Amino acid sequence: MDQQVPTVSGIAMRTLISANDPTCRCGRSKLPGAWSCEACNEDRSRKYDDMIESKLASKRFEFDGILKNCGFPEKYRTAAVTSLDLVPQLQQFAVGVAAKPRNLFFKGIPGSGKTHVAAAILKEWIWRKTERDVRKNADPEHTLPGAFINVPEFLAHLRTMGYRDSFKQVEHVARKRFLVIDDLGAEKTTDHTLDILYAIINNRYGVGAKGRWYYATIVTSEFSIVEISTKVHDRLARRLTEMCQVIQFPNKDLSEIVRKREQEKETDENNSTDE
Ligand SMILES: [Zn+2]
Repeated sequence: MDQQVPTVSGIAMRTLISANDPTCRCGRSKLPGAWSCEACNEDRSRKYDDMIESKLASKRFEFDGILKNCGFPEKYRTAAVTSLDLVPQLQQFAVGVAAKPRNLFFKGIPGSGKTHVAAAILKEWIWRKTERDVRKNADPEHTLPGAFINVPEFLAHLRTMGYRDSFKQVEHVARKRFLVIDDLGAEKTTDHTLDILYAIINNRYGVGAKGRWYYATIVTSEFSIVEISTKVHDRLARRLTEMCQVIQFPNKDLSEIVRKREQEKETDENNSTDE
């Protein structure tokens, strides 16, 4: 490859010349018009796959940290759409939402599993996004596109901050592509906290290109939107009605069942790695 390469659009000319060359750089013969021989092509694509695999492996290793940066609660660390397989319809629904997030309002009594399911969906979505970013060679570290907030905890946290910092924090979560707003209606309401909640929801109200929602939000609450309207905020409730599909969770203790399932799965995994 020491031949004189014309400098006019250098890369194109170089490609052209080596493509016309019947010999690959490795010395083997190659098809006319091909960039390199089959063996070199395979070698290159294998190296690329290996590189992607090793990047994904390190992301898997860092995944707990990635979740933590998204505000994902420790309590739901093991939440996974795969553990929802005892209720196949629910699992199908959760996988569907993780693949194509949309605005949902999960209503259910405490223990009905609504937060668990929301967390499992968010986690699955964050992993899928991380994987996509690795394959596209984008750096997911800089995008951290999802977040989880528990409303009472989030508001209590804001109260410990100065005005500027709390404003930044609100803006930060309001702009996440996928946000779980957990336990709406459980907070103590003041005019200030209502303003904050309304600002977050309202920011997520905008519709993006092709009439699709730009942001996806899952709100969980033990109250209905009508109750939120009287108990919390009328305007906020109206926005939720306009945005969200309501999913009513049955009044049974789903979260206990799912948690047991997760423990089983974890034990299974540990046993299989022991072998
Ligand atoms: Zn070759």
